[in-house]
Order: sequence, then structure tokens, then C-alpha cells
Amino acid sequence: MNSKPKITISQSLIKALDVHAGKCPAKAYAVFILGLEHGSSRAMELGNYFETVVYGATEDGSKIEPERNKKTNEILTPFRRVHKQAYRFMTEYAQNYKMDLSEPRVHLTAEIAGYPGYALRGRLDLVSSIYDDKNYPESPFIKKAIIDTKITGSITNTFGDFAWGNPSAMDHLQMDIYSMLYEIVNKQKVPCYYFVMDTSKEEGHLLVHKEVNQDDIRKAKKRIVLTISRIEDYFGNYGSEWPKAPNPKNCRGCPLSSTCTSAKLD
Ligand code: SF4
Repeated sequence: MNSKPKITISQSLIKALDVHAGKCPAKAYAVFILGLEHGSSRAMELGNYFETVVYGATEDGSKIEPERNKKTNEILTPFRRVHKQAYRFMTEYAQNYKMDLSEPRVHLTAEIAGYPGYALRGRLDLVSSIYDDKNYPESPFIKKAIIDTKITGSITNTFGDFAWGNPSAMDHLQMDIYSMLYEIVNKQKVPCYYFVMDTSKEEGHLLVHKEVNQDDIRKAKKRIVLTISRIEDYFGNYGSEWPKAPNPKNCRGCPLSSTCTSAKLD
């Protein structure tokens, strides 16, 4: 146990260790403890391309080129639409929603009381002003809000992890942690929003207000503590050989897939 490194808890790690969702602990160890690169999904590539257009590069400094049709060399439609949405975000949307886009990529870290070997981390896309007369009719101009930008295939989808047509059905752990961290670090609670842009032919967008209440914070803290207890159990019982949960969803994009004897890729 003494050799256990200091561990940073993020919403991604919490979700990667959600064994009830069938996640593979060995993969989580490889990605979050060893820091190995995992493969990116199309959704992640589009998100990284959005960042490249808006900020000139992704957080790690890489510039993502749009994917092209191998025969015609034309830029694939989803990348073309993301490019358009990125420009609209910086111009038309920023103007219409009075976003000053003043603090992009805000990284926040806090100690976790009672767990000295752990820290909580959040990487916020943006802290900016915003105009919201729907939720704050008395005082619609908000000087500071947490804004998480999302690229999605549809803003009307009502099922699954990205049900932007029914956001109350989604898991908002990420935003709950952002809100909690922002308040710990800045001693101030600010409103939280998702700015969702789609790559459908409608090229729509949505501003979703996320109320983060005390119950949300309590549940987020519970998941953080549960994750720490899982990590302690895995280190204590398995050392660096955490249990495996092979299935194509886990194994595709796993950094261990070429060496793992349990890998199941189809
Ligand atoms: S290849 Fe599959 S089973 Fe092996 S560690 Fe990766 S996700 Fe787990």
C-alpha cells in the first residue's frame, strides 16, 4: 500500500471504475494509474476537432485534422459541421448569449478531506459570462458561469448517455463535480450550463441550465468515496493486476488490448 501513487479522482475515473456498468478495472488501472493512452472514439475526435478550431489546438497541444473521404478527399460531413459550429460558437452564439469566453480551460484541483493520498480534479471547458432570461428572468446577465461545451449527433435524442432531448435522464456527475470544485477553490457558487451543438443536418444548438443542488453534491461525494474504496480494495487485493472485464465495448480502444490475454474485440 505504501507504494501506491497519489491518485487524482476525476469524473472519468469514477465512471471507469463503475463495475455495475460493466467497466474493466484493469483498463482503468492502465489509463488512470499508469497514464497509458487509450484509443479515441469518433465522438472524442469530433470534440478534439472542435477544440482545435476554437483554441488552435487540443489541451495537450495536438492539432486535429478533419477526416477526409479516401476517394474524393472531401472533408467528412460531421467534421465539416463541427467546423461550422465552432465558428458559430465563437461569433454568433457568443454574441447572442453574451458570452465573453473569458476563461477557457480552467483546471481545478482540491484535496479530499479524510483521504490524504487522493485529490479531486476537474477540467472545465470554459468560465464565461452568459445571458439566461429563462432561468434568471429578474437578472438574466450572469457575469460568471461554468460552461461545458458538447458536440453531439442530435440535440433531440431522449435515450442513452447523450439524451440532450431529455437532460434530466442523464448522469450529470461531471457538472456536479465542476460546481463543487469551483465553489471549494473560488469560495463562490456559480450557475452551470451545457452549450450543446449538434452535427445533424439541422446544425442545432441548445443551452441547458444544470441546477446543482445539495443532494447532487451529496451523491457526487458518495461516488467519490466509493471509488476511493474500490481503488483501495484493488490495490490491497490485487496489487497492480486489477480484475478484468472483457467485452468489445471495453476492449476496443483499451491500451492493453494487444497484450491482454482476456481481450475480446468482437
Ligand atoms: S483488453 Fe479488455 S479485458 Fe483486457 S484490460 Fe483491456 S478492457 Fe480489460
